[in-house]
Amino acid sequence: MTWLRDRVTHSEPPYGGLQLHEMTAPSVTYLCPRCGWHGYVRKIATINDDWDAPVCEPCYNDLHPGIETAVTYWSVQDYAYNARTPEDRLPFTVVRRRGLSGRRGGRAEMYRPHLSGDREVWEFTSILVEEARDGSSYDVRPISEPEARKIMARTRAKCLA
Ligand SMILES: [Zn+2]
Repeated sequence: MTWLRDRVTHSEPPYGGLQLHEMTAPSVTYLCPRCGWHGYVRKIATINDDWDAPVCEPCYNDLHPGIETAVTYWSVQDYAYNARTPEDRLPFTVVRRRGLSGRRGGRAEMYRPHLSGDREVWEFTSILVEEARDGSSYDVRPISEPEARKIMARTRAKCLA
């Protein structure tokens, strides 16, 4: 990933083998090999100076023993009055938000099943912001991680069918 390394303008002091790097604007699109985030990144982190598979900033926060992270999950489904079949009433995907413990916000990511196989892909969504503002166009509810895993498995199976 030398194209990423070439964009680095500033690097934080390393913590163990972990090091965060800031890149020049504009942001670039990247697929994080650790968490499946596919979207814009301004900062990436290397592990033991490995530039073949740098990870995204929330992954850096996860991996850093001094940073406490929080992950929350939501189910996303159509409102019942829009549902035509019983299956339409089930959540069709999951949003996860990854942030820092005790802080608001964080990155909201929507699960996208991927035809290429086992890889999880998560992409940007504004749905939680809309939901907090005047309600989004979907029925969005907080759920546990096991519930999220179940919905993801169903979404994936449906996509691969
Ligand atoms: Zn990541």
